[in-house]
Amino acid sequence: MGTEAEAAEVVESVSDLAVQDPPGEEFSAADLRWVKYASSEHQRDDVALIPYERMDAFIAGECSNPECPTRFHIERGRKRDRGTLREVRSDDYLLYRMYWCSFGPENYGEGGTILPSRKYRLNTRNRAARPQSMRGCTCHFAIKRLYARPSLVLIIYHERRHINKSGFICHGPLDRDAIGPGARRVPYVGSEIQQQTMSLIYLGVPEENILQTHMEGIHRYCGSDAKVDSLASQYVQKLGMIIKRSTHELDLDDQASIRMWVDRNKKSVFYYQDSTDTDAFVLGIQTEWQLQQMIRFGHQDLLASHSSFGVSKLKYPLHTLLVFDSRQHALPVAWIITRSVTKQDTLRWMKALTERIYSVDSTWRIGGFVIDDPASELDPIRDVFSCPILFSLWHIRRTWLKNIIKKCSNSEVQREMFMQLGKVMYSIWSEKNPMDALEQLFQDFVDQTTFVQYFKSFWVPKLEMWIDTIRSLPLASQESSGTIEGYHLKLKVKAYDDSQLDALQRVDWLVHKLTTELHSSYWLNLYADESGSFPEVKAEYIASTSWHRALQIPDDAVIFDDKEPFSAKVTSQKDTSQMWTVWNPGSEFSLCDCSWSMQGNLCKHIIKVNMMCGPRKDFQPSLSFQSFQHVLLDLWQKPMDDSFSLDLSVAWVMQMQERIQKVTELATADGIAEVSNRLPIQWTNKKGRKVAAKRTSPLRVLPHSNGIVQKDFTPKKNRKRKRLSTVSG
Ligand SMILES: [Zn+2]
Ligand SMILES: [Zn+2]
Repeated sequence: MGTEAEAAEVVESVSDLAVQDPPGEEFSAADLRWVKYASSEHQRDDVALIPYERMDAFIAGECSNPECPTRFHIERGRKRDRGTLREVRSDDYLLYRMYWCSFGPENYGEGGTILPSRKYRLNTRNRAARPQSMRGCTCHFAIKRLYARPSLVLIIYHERRHINKSGFICHGPLDRDAIGPGARRVPYVGSEIQQQTMSLIYLGVPEENILQTHMEGIHRYCGSDAKVDSLASQYVQKLGMIIKRSTHELDLDDQASIRMWVDRNKKSVFYYQDSTDTDAFVLGIQTEWQLQQMIRFGHQDLLASHSSFGVSKLKYPLHTLLVFDSRQHALPVAWIITRSVTKQDTLRWMKALTERIYSVDSTWRIGGFVIDDPASELDPIRDVFSCPILFSLWHIRRTWLKNIIKKCSNSEVQREMFMQLGKVMYSIWSEKNPMDALEQLFQDFVDQTTFVQYFKSFWVPKLEMWIDTIRSLPLASQESSGTIEGYHLKLKVKAYDDSQLDALQRVDWLVHKLTTELHSSYWLNLYADESGSFPEVKAEYIASTSWHRALQIPDDAVIFDDKEPFSAKVTSQKDTSQMWTVWNPGSEFSLCDCSWSMQGNLCKHIIKVNMMCGPRKDFQPSLSFQSFQHVLLDLWQKPMDDSFSLDLSVAWVMQMQERIQKVTELATADGIAEVSNRLPIQWTNKKGRKVAAKRTSPLRVLPHSNGIVQKDFTPKKNRKRKRLSTVSG
């Protein structure tokens, strides 16, 4: 920041500032001329004005400061819509963001305020090996995209030096504690490299490979020399040792142990309520990284809740909130551990979670919330997220199938029974009573006593609740069911490991598993996918849902057999002499004889076959599509009242129709380019209008009560999926 003479320049209005636009791909604070801004809000902070489109170039330049290489993260943010201010001052913002050096603001290092006492630290005596990315750095700046001039952004530098509260440089080559004479410590590593190295250790990658990637990361920040390299190698070794020796058990008493964990991980806890005589135990976990992913993938998209039914082994049930990432894979963005399902407690944690998000981005909104447990309280979701709620069938399908396979030994009986159960579900929208179909099933399979007994005692008492929910909420698709199941399977492998049965009774053990292994594995998946490093991790991650595996099966590997009962044969891609049979194709209750399906999972063969059944009118539409039709029919049958609120509703329906139209356009087109070429100018041209006119008559697009859908309204799913498969490659 310049000399005394330069610093003396003071302006009183942003309008007096010149716009600066230094050349080059990136630039930093050193390339700008800073002046003091004398407003009441910014007590003489340093400011500069640059074009809004150069903001990323500035942030990139600030990150590669040779004296203190770092990253800047968004610590706080606010947005304001255009047209909401009556009087506009020259420094009012449309967008406000505060960027903080990622070596701060917390200080976990030596003398840091949050450093836990020695007694409770990780099982090591070596302080140097502690992850040291939080150094209490106070360097931070804010940006304001100007309300009056949206093409410009005002940078307000609050603290330009990378110093801690005591005023010492706290990271980078100039940090006296880091490198230099007498330094005992390794060079401080940014949180990204640290997370990467930890993830690789958790994944069990050989140490020499981890070391190599770690070094590459370090060398991006400081040059390579023997000393740096040997320190880095020690760091990796010690981190590995810490992880190996680290324990969930911070105290013999589980409750005390959790209290300690919460105290040490304040930044990853969004809600905590200790159990008392009056309050239930509630722990809401969300790391900084998860927060970012929730903002990124949840905005105007779906959020899903995964409930840990049936894992009675756990001391407290675990709820996971999932977003769907750019590959539509489920990504856990928050974990809630509690037995309480009361409205009050649910409302509390949901509010705490969304407030945390709004403090970063006040415009964040989700488009829909998928639940999988009909016992969930819907009011808190509606209050907090103000969005439609959908229901996913993944759990009921999986549980029924698993129990049939476990409790009936004859494969023909298994298949018949599962199909019958499917019919019970499919009768939900017909005039028939689902319970009658169920009664029939009990009679037909009267000799299957084990299963019938299980079903009568476990399911019959609550089946009414399930059916009501399925009838009243729109149903989520098979793609989302498959991806939620994918998360469920991973959670089971990583966290509900059977060899640790005793441990499941401790909450600290679950917290430890979630925040170390599971978190690391998801972090690395996304990192590998987006950075292009670790190609094997990336490939494995892409293939981790049955939906993506189904996309790899060509259409000609599927042969339909029209004989009763309907079935389809799918040729194995690995061994072409091997064929799998999918019974009851075109239904959520299809059954395949491959081993993956026989473990209760939704296998790729079923998904592939169902993708091909979608456009064929000789198959009934899927449950989720039927529920969608039901919603539309219901809407259409509502009496008209010719009011303003009707206008508003019609406008919403139109918007929805347009969205659906775009999806079907994509599904029937040969590629995205073909569709985008027609957008947006030709969208309203003659052809478009003709289509729209056709659609406005509900009689022509909706099925009659016999449930047969006219062919052109059925989404042609397989083409879309083909397109997706070429994109995902
Ligand atoms: Zn810093
Ligand atoms: Zn299969």
